[in-house]
Amino acid sequence: MLGPVILAASRSDRIRRLVSAAPVTKQVVDRFIPGESVDQVVPIIQDLTDRGLELTMDVVGEDITTPEQAAAARDAYLELVGRLKELDLGTRAEMSVKLSMFGQALDGGHELALANVRPVVEAAAAIGTTVTLDAEDHTTLDSMFAIHEELREDFPETGCVIQAYLYRTEADARRLAANGSRVRLVKGAYKEPAEVAYQRKPETDKAYVRVLRILMEGDGYPMVGSHDPRLISIAQELGRRAGRKPAEYEFQMLYGIRSDEHLRLAAEGHRMRVYTAYGTDWYGYFMRRLAEKPANLLFFARSVLTKD
Ligand SMILES: Cc1cc2nc3c(=O)[nH]c(=O)nc-3n(C[C@H](O)[C@H](O)[C@H](O)COP(=O)(O)OP(=O)(O)OC[C@H]3O[C@@H](n4cnc5c(N)ncnc54)[C@H](O)[C@@H]3O)c2cc1C
Repeated sequence: MLGPVILAASRSDRIRRLVSAAPVTKQVVDRFIPGESVDQVVPIIQDLTDRGLELTMDVVGEDITTPEQAAAARDAYLELVGRLKELDLGTRAEMSVKLSMFGQALDGGHELALANVRPVVEAAAAIGTTVTLDAEDHTTLDSMFAIHEELREDFPETGCVIQAYLYRTEADARRLAANGSRVRLVKGAYKEPAEVAYQRKPETDKAYVRVLRILMEGDGYPMVGSHDPRLISIAQELGRRAGRKPAEYEFQMLYGIRSDEHLRLAAEGHRMRVYTAYGTDWYGYFMRRLAEKPANLLFFARSVLTKD
């Protein structure tokens, strides 16, 4: 019950100011967002890849209000691609982008987001890697899927994300599995109304399994985005039954969450990709991590109360 309350509260400017100004916030944020600049995350990228993990990098930010901010977001990703090239890590690290950060919610936003994301996808392809379009709230998804389709005409490896809690997702999964897409399946992290999404966790978990089966049996490349141990073993079983070898799908988890499990799956021979976010505009990302696990909020609250 606490999760939706935190997600609703996260839209309030007052709460944003309170959370951002709390003296201990930074040390709690660091668990999930290990740096504010590309220089700060380079050692983390190197450490994780040295341990046999792959990465998908997210420059945090979403609620932008001007085309200049959207262009700055594009440039931040281009800077990142440049660093990955220098490090020769193009084949080990890809990018995750939120189209809202590329201007999708502004006037003419669909075209603006496409124009901003295309150079990032081109630069990524030039160093042997790719981009995955994150899924945001349900009102943005038709635009996201249209951009995904358009990018795939030139860059078929471009990925996208689907969310098990949405009723529409089984149909989206069938379409994407039939056209050979790279698809990350997640449970879904936004506050969505009952008209479009399951409200209870067991319903979402069951939908996750149904959708995963569609992806595993299809022609695309499934990316299993979850920390849920039950779903991870179901994914292994569904992959086996569909005749997929471990390299023919991958697991993805968030930086800072169940890190031992990242290493365990990699040691078992699976492809394991760690979603690693960095940047200064961390608020939205951080609040979704608090909402997913109320214990995180209690830890945060305790840190605030005991700071002295
Ligand atoms: C790689 C990746 C990319 C994602 N991209 C998107 C996206 O584009 N759009 C979107 O809507 N959502 C995205 N998500 C978030 C996703 O929708 C879920 O909110 C999140 O993954 C929690 O669900 P779960 O499957 O891990 O299962 P849960 O049942 O929520 O968690 C299973 C277990 O994992 C651990 N855990 C999970 N979350 C946390 C946390 N925050 N802190 C500490 N422990 C935790 C706990 O041990 C928990 O019991 C992404 C998730 C991953 C892993």
